[in-house]
Amino acid sequence: MKPFKHHNAYSIEEALTLLRDYEGRARLIAGGTDLIGILKGDILLDYPEALINIKTIPDLDGIKEDGKGLKIGALTRLSHIVRSPVIEDKYGLLEEAARSVGTPEIRNMGTIGGNLCQDTRCWYYRYPNQMGGRIVCYRKGEGPCYAIKGDNRYHAIMEGKGCFAVCPSDIAIALTALDAEFMIASTGGERVVPITDFYQTLGHVLKPDEILTKILVPKPPDNATQTFLKYRLRESVDFAIVSVASVISLEGGICRDASIALGAVAPVPIKAIEAEQIIKGKPLDAKTAEEAAEAAVADAKPLSMNAYKIEVTKILLQRAIMA
Ligand SMILES: Cc1cc2nc3c(=O)[nH]c(=O)nc-3n(C[C@H](O)[C@H](O)[C@H](O)COP(=O)(O)OP(=O)(O)OC[C@H]3O[C@@H](n4cnc5c(N)ncnc54)[C@H](O)[C@@H]3O)c2cc1C
Repeated sequence: MKPFKHHNAYSIEEALTLLRDYEGRARLIAGGTDLIGILKGDILLDYPEALINIKTIPDLDGIKEDGKGLKIGALTRLSHIVRSPVIEDKYGLLEEAARSVGTPEIRNMGTIGGNLCQDTRCWYYRYPNQMGGRIVCYRKGEGPCYAIKGDNRYHAIMEGKGCFAVCPSDIAIALTALDAEFMIASTGGERVVPITDFYQTLGHVLKPDEILTKILVPKPPDNATQTFLKYRLRESVDFAIVSVASVISLEGGICRDASIALGAVAPVPIKAIEAEQIIKGKPLDAKTAEEAAEAAVADAKPLSMNAYKIEVTKILLQRAIMA
């Protein structure tokens, strides 16, 4: 690794002031499970002059519940989410997603904020500088997306615009189905961004002087069935090939409301709006589930090696609806 300065921030204000003063030349570090790999591989064109450790900020972690829903501090470890009785009881989908992340060690160090802000796992983007030079691609601001003509078996089948790397965060998919919002702070004040506006093709909307401070999760309906399904190659430790998260409310066997998110099929979490519309107001049977699954992938444009993801998406979506 190259040398960098290291600052422990003891308040949000201190971290924000440091970020502002470094003018984009510093990076936040929480658990470090993603960032340290990026620095070791020296994969990016610019190397940070400083890291600002936010783990030293008190009160930025923890899970609070009130009548409206949850407030989760950005520093809350994924293992804390897995063990939280309130999340297990009322937000089971989020617990499932957190449980599916990495290994116990990763979940013990990795924070929810870091998971949501982690960089993509595209193997071209992540190619280490020490092995013949880093790959400079569209996502890094120069050059093409090498997945388009290369090995694209794990890349996007939808919404690839210049870059076909997928959003790697399982937590983001669960929170998309739960309609979460993010509280973001800068020295200029706070703003709240719905998760559907947070992710962009090349990452997220955080500016270099901003910190994600809290995740706000509205309470799902009491009668809703929550499901998180993740297809991966290795059951033990692996990122999703495709994931589906759903919150579906039934009354008398009829679907009254539905929120469905698809993961690892696009650079951003996808809301399966057409599928939601198809199942609303209908009894959930195999025919409706199949129709919804077809609609969800109708706009898919697979690359040369990943058309199989369309079938995986359809099967997971049908299973989630029938759950
Ligand atoms: C072996 C392995 C397997 C994995 N498997 C999975 C998996 O199956 N599913 C999955 O979803 N993830 C997986 N991950 C990713 C893992 O979940 C993330 O590395 C972890 O959650 C990141 O959290 P962190 O606190 O360590 O973040 P860091 O590494 O500290 O930070 C990651 C990024 O987020 C930024 N950041 C951190 N906190 C904030 C904040 N509050 N505000 C603004 N920016 C912030 C940092 O600047 C950095 O850019 C895996 C990782 C590894 C190494």
